[in-house]
Amino acid sequence: MSDISISSDSIHQRRRRVAGALLLLVGALIAWLVSSLGGGASPEFAGASISARLTRAGGTGDGSLMHSRNAAETAAVAATLSRTPYIVSGGGQVREVALTFDDGPSEYTPKFLEILKTEGVGATFFTVGSMYSTFGPTASLATEDGYPIANHTFNHPPMNSLSPSDQASQVDRTTDLIKGAGIQAPNLYRPPYGAYDAASLAITKKRGMLLVLWDVDTLDWERTGVDAIVSNALSRVKPGSIILMHDGGGDRSQTLAALPRIIKGLRDRGYRMVSVPRLLIDDPPRAGETPPPLTQA
Ligand code: ZN
Repeated sequence: MSDISISSDSIHQRRRRVAGALLLLVGALIAWLVSSLGGGASPEFAGASISARLTRAGGTGDGSLMHSRNAAETAAVAATLSRTPYIVSGGGQVREVALTFDDGPSEYTPKFLEILKTEGVGATFFTVGSMYSTFGPTASLATEDGYPIANHTFNHPPMNSLSPSDQASQVDRTTDLIKGAGIQAPNLYRPPYGAYDAASLAITKKRGMLLVLWDVDTLDWERTGVDAIVSNALSRVKPGSIILMHDGGGDRSQTLAALPRIIKGLRDRGYRMVSVPRLLIDDPPRAGETPPPLTQA
């Protein structure tokens, strides 16, 4: 009898512990909801209704779920930057690849976005500052849809031909234009032609920006045909690949036609297509294993 009573007490204690843990969990959930929906509210939201706050949580600003995701992405970029000033690919441990588009925003960018959104795949845009006077709103739309906007200099010079101060000016001017379009300051940077030097690395690292190269060049800028672009992408891809394409800098109709086929080909091979920050979360380059820098073709 005493054994049974001890056992029964112990069951009751366990139930109380479980109930306590559940209460803690519910409390934490409520605290999270309050903080994500109302915490840090900007003045215009101070008296907002629940529905307005829910709308806000679904948006992209402070307190939104999108913002929480960006926080994880920002942390992943910073963590990578603490190990290496540049990357060529992810760690190769996960069947994910990063699609990247350079030289926009341009008149082609909305068409690329339409395909990416329809297919539900991630991508990153490395943008040129001089394009913002005409196509800045396009970049804003891309970022609202969750596509990271990165820095690709102001007017696309080979950075290793510039003085450190001219390089810094190319980077800073573009960051200012990106911010001027209402977009978060970029933490990713790609030097035109993949050409950079020690000063480039120092400049970007000082600004908390990771220099992002690529390991798969579709050579779409050569415009040798849609088949060639698709083949270049699919024949060289591997887990963790960063794939280079262009949404600006010239006629990109071939790249546009190639993109759905590239997406299908990658899916058929079991790849998930993500942004560079997402790749850094899921498949970070392993410490001390960053491949050597690309040599300029
Ligand atoms: Zn470029």
